[in-house]
Amino acid sequence: MDYFTYTNGRLFAEGVDVEQIANEVGTAVYIYSKATFLEHLRKVRQAYSEVDTTVCYSVKACSNINILKFMAEAGSGFDIVSGGELYRVQQAGGDVSKVVYAGVGKTNREIIEALDAGIAYFNIESEAELENLIELADQHGKRPKAALRVNPDVDPKTHTYTTTGKKETKFGVDIERAERVFAEFGKNKTVELCAIHVHLGSAGHTVEPYVEAVDKTLALIDRLRNSGFRIEALDLGGGYGADYVTSQSPTAAEYAAAIVPMIKDKDLKLILEPGASIAANAAILLTKVLYVKTGGGKKFVIVDAGMNDLIRPPLYDAFHFIWPVKVDGRHIPARREKDLRLPGTEVVDVVGPICESADFFAKDRPMPPTKRGDLLGIFTAGAYGFTMSSNYNARGRVAEVLVDGSNFKVIRKREAYEDLIALEK
Ligand SMILES: *Cc1c(COP(=O)(O)O)cnc(C)c1O
Repeated sequence: MDYFTYTNGRLFAEGVDVEQIANEVGTAVYIYSKATFLEHLRKVRQAYSEVDTTVCYSVKACSNINILKFMAEAGSGFDIVSGGELYRVQQAGGDVSKVVYAGVGKTNREIIEALDAGIAYFNIESEAELENLIELADQHGKRPKAALRVNPDVDPKTHTYTTTGKKETKFGVDIERAERVFAEFGKNKTVELCAIHVHLGSAGHTVEPYVEAVDKTLALIDRLRNSGFRIEALDLGGGYGADYVTSQSPTAAEYAAAIVPMIKDKDLKLILEPGASIAANAAILLTKVLYVKTGGGKKFVIVDAGMNDLIRPPLYDAFHFIWPVKVDGRHIPARREKDLRLPGTEVVDVVGPICESADFFAKDRPMPPTKRGDLLGIFTAGAYGFTMSSNYNARGRVAEVLVDGSNFKVIRKREAYEDLIALEK
C-alpha cells in the first residue's frame, strides 16, 4: 500500500501531480509521501497491539530530519547505528528513551554520547564491545541497559549483502555463545544485560525465517531465565519485506499473526526495528529522460538520475519498478512488477549518466516508449535511496521533497556545485 497512484494517466503523490514538482524543483528528485510512512507505522503498531511493543523505525533507511520529526510526533522510537543518527534523532525531537543502538563498531565517542542521551538499549555485538561499554559507563557514572545481539543462524533467503543473521556474518554472537556471555556479564552491576536482539537482514519475503528465529531465541531466553537471568525484552530487528513488487511481501498483520502468539505469554516487551517496510514505497525517485539511444541490439533510456542517487540496483540486484509519469489509458500499470508487458511496450535498459557499467536502474525492462524530456518514476525508492547516495562523478545530491496531502515542500535542497567543495577549503 502507498499513495503513488495514476489519475487520468498522470502520476500523483498523494494529492500532488508529480510533474508539478519536477517543474518547480527540477529533476532528479526524491518525492516522499508522509501519509505512506504514517500508515505503515500505524499498521505495524496495530498488528502487534496485543503485546507491549515499541516500534523503533530504522533511521538508516531514510533519515531526513523532517521525516524523523513526523515519525517522532507519531510516537515512533528509533533504531540507530551511529552517533550521527543519534544526533539526527535528537535534532528531530525524537524520544531518546525509545532509541536502540546497534552496530559492530561503536566508537567511544559514540558510546559516550548515547550514554549521555540515555537511550533504551545498547544492542551489543561482541564481548569486547560489552567490556568497553562497562568501562565507559563506569567512568561516566551511567547504568545503561543492553541487549545481546544473537545470531539465530537463520537464512532469510535474501541477497548475501543484506543477510545479517547467519553464522558467518560479522553481526552478533552465536546462540551457543550467548549463554557464555550471560554467564560472564549477565549479573554485571554497571550494564544491565536484560534483553535479546536479533536482526535477520533485509528484504525477506516470507514469515518463516522470523518464526524460526523467534523459536530459537525464545528457547535461549528460557534457558537464560532458568539460569537466573532476568530477560525483559526481545528485539526482533527489522528486515520485514517491502512491496517492491505489488503485494510481494507479507503485511505487518501477517508477520504479527505468526509472531504474536509465540511471545504473547512470555512476559517480554517486544521491540521492532522496521526500516524498508516503512520507508521503501513511501518515495519515488523522479527522473527525466535525457536521451534514448539504440545500439548492440539494445535500447537505452538514459536518465538524469544515476547510481550515486540510488545504488540499490547494482549493489543488491534490487528491482525497482520504473514507469513514465504520464501514460495513455492502456499503459496504466495495475501492478508493479518486472515483466509488465502491456500492449505497445518496448524492452529497454534504463541507465544513468555515470561512467560505470554498473550505473543502471533496470535491464531488459518492458516500458511504454519514452522520448527525451519525459519524466519517469523510479518507484519504491524511499529506503536506502537518498541515505546511500553520494557525490560520485562530482554530482550534487538531488533534492528531497515531502508531500503531505495536496501540499509539498522541499525538505532538502539540491546540492550546488559550491557544496561539492565546501569542506575542501
Ligand atoms: C538496517 C537495520 C534494520 C532495518 O532493516 P530493514 O530491512 O530496513 O527493515 C533494523 N535493525 C538493524 C539492526 C539494522 O541494521
